[in-house]
Parts: sequence; structure tokens; C-alpha cells
Amino acid sequence: MIEKISFKWNKQWPNLLILWAIHGDEPCGTHAINKIIKEIQTNILQLESWSITCIPICNPNAYMKRVRYTEKNLNRVIKNHDKPLYYEEQLANILIEEIEKCDYLLDLHSMQSSWTSFVFQDYNDTDTISFCKNMELEYVITGRTKLAVTYENADTVGYAHKYWKIWAVVECGQHNDNKSKEVAYTTIINTLIGLWVIAHKKTNSQETISIVVTKVISKVKSGNFSQTRKHLDYVKTWMVLSTYDDGESIIAEENGYILLPNETAKIGDERFYIGK
Ligand SMILES: [Zn+2]
Repeated sequence: MIEKISFKWNKQWPNLLILWAIHGDEPCGTHAINKIIKEIQTNILQLESWSITCIPICNPNAYMKRVRYTEKNLNRVIKNHDKPLYYEEQLANILIEEIEKCDYLLDLHSMQSSWTSFVFQDYNDTDTISFCKNMELEYVITGRTKLAVTYENADTVGYAHKYWKIWAVVECGQHNDNKSKEVAYTTIINTLIGLWVIAHKKTNSQETISIVVTKVISKVKSGNFSQTRKHLDYVKTWMVLSTYDDGESIIAEENGYILLPNETAKIGDERFYIGK
């Protein structure tokens, strides 16, 4: 049902789990993981330690159809299902076993509307900080947990956190952009180097911008953004960010970045975050 490729060094521990295509419409990283698997199999990359488990396509049926999911959003049903009713619940039962076995989880995604890459670093322990820093992505986004963004969503990292795993969610860029494939590849390689799994020199080194989420703005009534807002757009104090149908506006209280704008948010949903 799910293809899993494992490489074991002389012991099972520690184990890095790499997941891609939890959402079937995010094809770019599967290519990157498959390239890395081939490079390990042909000794271009030599593992110095660790075990690695790669699941290049977590939702095969959705991936084949290039849709986000077939019956249920897989990243909302990551828990044990005694009697799985839906295809994605069957997949979840397989994935949670792998998450429980791993020590580190790298969960890679791409987005429809963002061409930039970033990692969510939700915890500030030393292991998590260095795990995320070593990826050398354009942005590190921290602070979501302080805003009571909880993991009751039954997603991969919520499950990993429950079992005290070190984890990171990486957004590699736009779904079909070739650059996202490169970002995915470089992120995995940098992660392997950072954890001393392989002894290579880093392929790129760039300044990472750190953004702390300071505010979450939920949609309380019907209305729209006052103009198209993209993820990581920089806004200045007093700018009108969003206008409700009754004329009330949401004004930026301070300079900062718009994060993860959701154009299709329903009333009660998170509409966007502000970060600094
Ligand atoms: Zn995704």
C-alpha cells in the first residue's frame, strides 16, 4: 500500500524518517527523495551512521490522481484507527507505526501559493533548533505554539510530538516549480549532513531569516483580503489587510510579514498569521 525504503547502518538507532506527499498534489519532493535513495544505493552518498526510512509517497492514490486526498485529508487523521473506514485512515495506521519507530521526523510539503521555502520550528529545545538550522532554508518560522495553535488536528507532527520525537515540517516552495525539487533535495542533504549521517560539504549556505509568529487573525464574518496577499508579504503599520463585507477593516498594528494566508478560510477558521 505504501512503499517504504530503509537503510540501516549497523544498528537501528537513531532513525530518521523522511515523509513526502502526505498530500497527493505535492509532487516535487518525491523526485528529490527518489534521487537520494538512488545515490545511497549506488554509494554516491555513503551513510556514516544512523538508519534512514524514506516514504516518498505517503498517499499513493491521491498522488496518482494529483489531488490533495481521496476521501479524507491524511494530515488530519494521523492517529490509530481501530476500524478504518476511509482509505486515508488505513494509510494513517501504517504511518503512525513508522513515526513511533523514528527518532527524528522530516515531513516535506509544497504549497500552491508560495515560492519561498521555510521550516516550522515550533519548539526551542537545542535538538530542534539545530535540526531546523542545519537545513539552511530561506526562513525559519517559530512561535506558533505560543498562539495556542494546537495539534489536535491529528497531523504527522502532532503525533510525533506526542511521542517526544524531534521533528520539522518544511515547505519547499510552489508545487510544480523546479526550484522546489532542488530545495527538497538540498534540505534532505543538509539534514543528513547536520545529523552526521553523511560526511559531505554543504551544497549551499545562505542567510536564514527568522520570523516569530506574533498574531493569528481568524475570519469572524464574511469578507475578503483588500488585495492579494501572498505568504511572506511584508506589510507596514496602518495598512489595510482585509475588509469585511460590512465595511470593517483589519489594519496592520505593526510592521511584519503576512504568513500562510488562507483565501478559502471559512468563518471561524484562521485567515492568516502576522509575524515579525
Ligand atoms: Zn502538504
